[in-house]
Amino acid sequence: DRINIAIDGPAGAGKSTVARLVAGQLGYIYIDTGAMYRAVTLSAQRLAIAADQDEALSLLLDKLEIALIRGEEGQSVLVNGEDVTADIRSLEVTREVSYYAASQSIREVLASLQREMAARKGVVMDGRDIGTHVLPDAEVKVFLTASARERALRRYKEMNNHEISLDELEAEIAKRDYLDTKREIAPLIQAEDAYVLDSSGMTIEEVVADIIRLCRT
Ligand code: C5P
Repeated sequence: DRINIAIDGPAGAGKSTVARLVAGQLGYIYIDTGAMYRAVTLSAQRLAIAADQDEALSLLLDKLEIALIRGEEGQSVLVNGEDVTADIRSLEVTREVSYYAASQSIREVLASLQREMAARKGVVMDGRDIGTHVLPDAEVKVFLTASARERALRRYKEMNNHEISLDELEAEIAKRDYLDTKREIAPLIQAEDAYVLDSSGMTIEEVVADIIRLCRT
């Protein structure tokens, strides 16, 4: 029987890489919920709507259609038909996304979309609040983490234009984790029934194998 798998954890822990590979091995659908928060953030920034303008954000959300499309090179993100896959990874979005992610209107709309996407099971969903809030009944829950330095280093290696230094990147990640952990609504915390996996010093293949093993037990 198909199950749902929730993978949560701090920024740069490798959630999206691992979730995508696990989904591939199981023939499941991978859903990157961070991309959805990023897409809303980008759209708001373009219209100069600030993270605390709840009414304006609600109106914006009514007009946004967010789609995750599986392509040859991973997932594409479309907002009202426009491909924003690259734009949502910009520094500008990355620096502000956690402020927008604290908005109740945004979280409510995205969480209900995410629940719809998982309704038929067979989904690997990564984020911050999947095991605790979006899919509390997920059959497998993983809290994936790694040391702050290692997470920064991994992100740094992924960047092709080194707009910021490794130290700056580590500070950005620490700040985002802080905001995500301290927010009132659905903060980043380990679900009580999550399997905690510290991937420091592990290869991607080892992490994937561990999660697949959990799914089979
Ligand atoms: O996973 P990613 O780093 O792309 O997520 C970007 C941001 O989106 C996170 O730092 C967090 O503020 C927000 N987010 C969230 N809940 C999720 C997924 C992401 O609040 N389920």
